[in-house]
Amino acid sequence: MSNEIMEYQMFIDGQWTPGESGEMMDVINPATREIVARVPRGTKGDVDKALHSARSTFEAGIWANQSIDERVEVLGNAAMAVIANKDRLAYLESLTSGATIRRTGFVDVMSVAGSLAMSAVILKQMPSIEHAICPPWVAPMHSYAVREPIGVCAGITPWNFPMILAAYKFAPALAMGNSIVMKPASITPVTTLELAKILFDAGLPPGVFNVVTGPGSSMGNYLVSHPEVDKIGFTGSTEVGRQIAHLAADGIKRVTLELGGKSPLIVLDDADIEMASSMTLLAFLTHSGQVCESGTRLLIPRKMQDQLVDAIIDKIKKLNIGNQMDLATDLGPIASQEQLNTIMNYVQIGKDAGAQIAYGGNRLSGGIYDNGFFFEPTVFINCNNKMQHVREEIFGPVQCVLPYDDLDEAIAIANDSPYGLGGGVCSTNTTRAQQVAKRMRTGSVWINTWHILRPDVPFGGYKESGYGRENCYHALMAYSEVKHVCQDLTPDAKNSFIYTFLGFNR
Ligand code: NDP
Repeated sequence: MSNEIMEYQMFIDGQWTPGESGEMMDVINPATREIVARVPRGTKGDVDKALHSARSTFEAGIWANQSIDERVEVLGNAAMAVIANKDRLAYLESLTSGATIRRTGFVDVMSVAGSLAMSAVILKQMPSIEHAICPPWVAPMHSYAVREPIGVCAGITPWNFPMILAAYKFAPALAMGNSIVMKPASITPVTTLELAKILFDAGLPPGVFNVVTGPGSSMGNYLVSHPEVDKIGFTGSTEVGRQIAHLAADGIKRVTLELGGKSPLIVLDDADIEMASSMTLLAFLTHSGQVCESGTRLLIPRKMQDQLVDAIIDKIKKLNIGNQMDLATDLGPIASQEQLNTIMNYVQIGKDAGAQIAYGGNRLSGGIYDNGFFFEPTVFINCNNKMQHVREEIFGPVQCVLPYDDLDEAIAIANDSPYGLGGGVCSTNTTRAQQVAKRMRTGSVWINTWHILRPDVPFGGYKESGYGRENCYHALMAYSEVKHVCQDLTPDAKNSFIYTFLGFNR
């Protein structure tokens, strides 16, 4: 693909639409700091326009009233269209987010297609109507429950997995017949815009899927408080999630929040060192640690600590860190200067607290590293669970080792966190591993693996990691309302027992 700067417009009402202000925001490649795209800096007027389109489409029933089979067909076509465009989508996702092309070309694109396809499959399999099997109560009654769309949804997404986290919102929202306005993160808006056009071309009616771009602090706030928004799906920091929950409370809007984490990985004393070291790298270095459910608190039996830390460092040294567009690269750059600063700040906080760096701790420099935001994988030892860098989300390639003496202590440390998103257990004993998994207060637990998020299993957090679940039928439930319809079947309904009994038909 060419090196020209790509100019985008917003996607509103099925059309590329310039921003009201005419101002644009730069999108850069974090490995080189080169500007690769420009998108409109949206305003409240743009949000109004997108919501107006979403609302009128919804009220007209253009998508909401289509039959389940019709919606399933469009979602299926959309999934195929995503796969047909996989090279372009993967290229743009990697270029702007710093994710390795090896991952985006396979995992990310397939995950988006999977979310669409799985939403279609579940929609098709879900009972569209549930008849109550109650005996005649008060009078012969026919009661049934149906699922209906909520209305207009707002999807707000972060920069770490722009496409996947957008699909976690729009796929179930669309399946259930809603209209949606997406607001991607300002540093990675491009693939969400591309997806809007791909889905439109695959048969989604105009106005059903809109994308606005612009600063979350002004436009995002306005979007979530807007009276035309019925449901908000948000992934991002706990701090902004909390603000959104407050704003949504006034309008009693439905909200799904997927927020931060500081996930514990408990290595059991029967674990294999090679397995545990690979699992540790998978848990904390995938996407250079910029994953909400990264495993960044490593609980190791004290007697295994030295051996395991050595094995981890040995494996880190073999990683290729560099240009994310190269298939041989294992770790790409950090997504932004701001995030790099956050990571460097936390590493200093850790050092000041007395934790010791066993490996890394520095920004990478020299050669291609000088142009972008590269940071060494970093392993802290001598940590305790009260230290700030151990408790707070760093969102970078930083591991904190916490030695433990007995399993109850390990589980207590693992659960001693305001977060509850992910967790993991490394063990050669399935029964023990599952017993530990049961005691972890987190929305996901991985045994001998990590990061496995599938469109057919629920994802979300306990505690301050959010509420609601994305993916699978839980998500379809979260993007729909349930309505009970009840009919009195007494042949002459005005003489039904309920009127006679309560005296309303005298
Ligand atoms: P934010 O939570 O600030 O941003 C996430 C999304 O929300 C972006 O689209 C952002 O827009 C938007 N947004 C920001 N402020 C508001 C608001 N007041 N109302 C509505 N929308 C808003 O995350 P950051 O990108 O700033 O990252 C900060 C930290 O959050 C990271 O260091 C990490 O710890 C955590 N994080 C967690 C993620 C997760 O998956 N749980 C993902 C990303 C970050 P804009 O981009 O324009 O600011």
